[in-house]
Amino acid sequence: QLIMGIETSCDETAIAIVKNGREILANVVASQIESHKRFGGVVPEIASRHHVEQITLVLEEALAQANVDVKDLDAIAVTEGPGLVGALLIGVNAAKALAFANGIPLIGVHHIAGHIYANRLVTEMNFPLLSLVVSGGHTELVYMKEHGHFEVIGETRDDAAGEAYDKVARTLHLPYPGGPHIDRLAHEGKATIDLPRAWLEDGSYDFSFSGLKSAVINVVHNAQQRGEEIVPEELAASFQESVIDVLVTKTQRAVKEYGVKQVLLAGGVAANKGLREKLSTDFADSDVEIVIPPLSLCTDNAAMIAAAGSILYEKGQRADLTLNGNPGLEITIHNESRK
Ligand code: ATP
Ligand code: MG
Ligand code: FE
Repeated sequence: QLIMGIETSCDETAIAIVKNGREILANVVASQIESHKRFGGVVPEIASRHHVEQITLVLEEALAQANVDVKDLDAIAVTEGPGLVGALLIGVNAAKALAFANGIPLIGVHHIAGHIYANRLVTEMNFPLLSLVVSGGHTELVYMKEHGHFEVIGETRDDAAGEAYDKVARTLHLPYPGGPHIDRLAHEGKATIDLPRAWLEDGSYDFSFSGLKSAVINVVHNAQQRGEEIVPEELAASFQESVIDVLVTKTQRAVKEYGVKQVLLAGGVAANKGLREKLSTDFADSDVEIVIPPLSLCTDNAAMIAAAGSILYEKGQRADLTLNGNPGLEITIHNESRK
């Protein structure tokens, strides 16, 4: 089984080819970070234009890398949402054109299902499992009792973890995207500054990071007003400790309550060294297996879309040519047992 994945939901133009849902034959990612850096974030119009310019080149490179012909593909899986509508449309239209011209089945994939299925490129999934999804736009605990079943048991009520990282980074005048810079600084300093942790009501698996973000901004502003210097390493370490403390503590509680066999880390913030270390050490003595994808599969890529598409293909899910970009797509749309 050969599945092509296409991903253009944000600022990466990515196409991959995956064999039997697990083996990466090609994984091409054209990042636009350089073009968005000077604006301090992704500019939707610029993103769409870049996708248009890049997608044909990325397609040719992916086919060449995998050494396959379009006609050999069993299906084309494409991110249909969530994301920037103009960006999504470039991938969706490319996928539709390829599928139609070559008579190949088309499959719509939820971007976050893709982030979760990046883990299947690392190891086989073992149900029931829990995925901690931490990305630029999402912070969720997702319970899965079988393939294609996604139950969101907790989610952010305001900022996503990645968004908080990027905003804190901007406050410290670090380049976009700020996550990796904060992560690096955090390892060079001690968490000496007392910052809040939003546990929310008893038993809640939801998250909230806007209070923490504001607290960091206040620390910086107060220091400025008093003419004092802040130590960026200490602030980064304190912020990171607060984020990781909440993420890992809630994950541990959910692992016990749901009795899962695996925890899959997913999304761009899964690239965070501190989070990877804390999860690994905290679960070292437990029966629960922690799966952490390599960095290249944490941030946006199309191999994860092909991996998720492979399962949907086996389940018989097909999209027709009315497939459209859906910026607000809910993950439960693929949750057949809930329908
Ligand atoms: P979504 O997947 O929710 O639609 P997205 O696709 O924009 O959002 P991803 O590409 O999954 O997000 O992740 C990008 C985010 O990951 C950015 O916010 C970035 O700062 C963050 N990030 C990347 N590396 C690290 C790191 N080492 N530590 C913390 N955050 C990181
Ligand atoms: Mg991105
Ligand atoms: Fe993403």
